[in-house]
Amino acid sequence: MKKIGIIGGGPSGLVAGIFAKKDDNEVIILERNSKPLKKLLMTGNGKCNYFNEVYGNDCYYSEDMGIVSSIISSNNIEKAKEFFDFLGIVPKIKNGCYYPFSNQASTIQKALVDEAERKGVKIICNSLVTDIQKKKKSFFVTCTDVSYKFDKLILATGSVAYSKTGSDGMGYTFLKKFSHSIVEPVPALVPLIIQNPIKEWDGVRTDVELELFEDGHFVARETGEIQLTSYGISGICTFNLTHIISRGLFLKRNEVVKINFVPFIKTLISPWMHQYSKRHPEKNLGNLLEGFLNYKLVPIILKRCGLSRNVYYQALTNEEKLMVCKTLRSFDVSVCGTKGFDFSQVCNGGVKLSEINAKTMESKKIPGLYVIGELIDMNGKCGGYNLTTCWITGMLAGKSIGGSND
Ligand SMILES: Cc1cc2nc3c(=O)[nH]c(=O)nc-3n(C[C@H](O)[C@H](O)[C@H](O)COP(=O)(O)OP(=O)(O)OC[C@H]3O[C@@H](n4cnc5c(N)ncnc54)[C@H](O)[C@@H]3O)c2cc1C
Repeated sequence: MKKIGIIGGGPSGLVAGIFAKKDDNEVIILERNSKPLKKLLMTGNGKCNYFNEVYGNDCYYSEDMGIVSSIISSNNIEKAKEFFDFLGIVPKIKNGCYYPFSNQASTIQKALVDEAERKGVKIICNSLVTDIQKKKKSFFVTCTDVSYKFDKLILATGSVAYSKTGSDGMGYTFLKKFSHSIVEPVPALVPLIIQNPIKEWDGVRTDVELELFEDGHFVARETGEIQLTSYGISGICTFNLTHIISRGLFLKRNEVVKINFVPFIKTLISPWMHQYSKRHPEKNLGNLLEGFLNYKLVPIILKRCGLSRNVYYQALTNEEKLMVCKTLRSFDVSVCGTKGFDFSQVCNGGVKLSEINAKTMESKKIPGLYVIGELIDMNGKCGGYNLTTCWITGMLAGKSIGGSND
């Protein structure tokens, strides 16, 4: 009889437990919180975006992208989706993102806990693991007032993002002790703080195109909805650039985001503004801008151009016209920080993938130790990609230990 320990009752730990439980294996999940899957309940604004229709390397970030492709192989994704079908979760697909049809993350929480219990996985809550030792082939795990001995151990403690849900980075400490290398975690999918914050645009949500420049060089582009805040910028479109920005700030790089507030104009804006203002000679510049911008943005654009709202576009010099167009298309903000781990949905960084066998998630350094979920150096964009990593890596480790690598 194999005794298998899993530290962490998050999405990756639960799936690993379900797949590892075979025959007379004893599987124990140790979770520090009073209930498992605390973070899962917050995902997708409580609706849980658990898969996507489209996968590719460009949806993920890691220092070892070659290994990422092997983890997100179409076979692995298909197997993980089959598992959710088996659990009876009916998806509702919106813009490619899978949500449970109930629109409730609790549907997925309940399905995973029920399946773990049905298979006989023991979930022991209020169990904070404080130390792990390996002696010969066994792992000795110490909780506050009790110890366990396991033949195999799965680390599923999450990253250091949103630590109030239980993931406070302890997994990195355990792995360092086992001489694993950690790519320094930085916050990702996180709101950004800008230099000279613009309080007046707080609360505006608008569709934009963002271009990111690092030390003056273009590095990435994103389109979608931005949320403007009293301290900076946020929203999905911003989030999808934050792994680069956060890493860049960590490396002391200069990070500038250029916001295009008029992405619907595909040609240079000047001819369009020219025609529009000719058609409406009665409208001053303020009125013109109000035709397509959120009203809170109009004085901000005008201020940056150094123009009054009462002037007429036709009366501007060519230089001033260019300035208006440039400001609308390329409103640059300098990023000076992020809101930090407590506000980040995930971390960029984690245990180096080259030190893990990507077929089984077993450590190449410590036989019998498995590392899964957000603890590994692999994070994804918004869109269900991070949970997908948890389902797949949990499934791979569980199957490998449970002895069913089909
Ligand atoms: C607000 C928010 C929204 C999100 N929305 C989405 C989304 O819609 N789609 C998506 O794909 N991803 C989303 N994510 C990311 C996703 O939730 C995480 O990637 C995922 O939860 C990571 O799972 P995990 O199992 O690796 O770790 P976690 O979910 O962090 O679970 C780790 C568990 O280990 C326990 N633990 C840690 N240390 C110890 C210890 N020493 N002893 C005992 N137990 C311990 C913790 O208490 C925790 O329960 C979101 C994240 C946040 C914060």
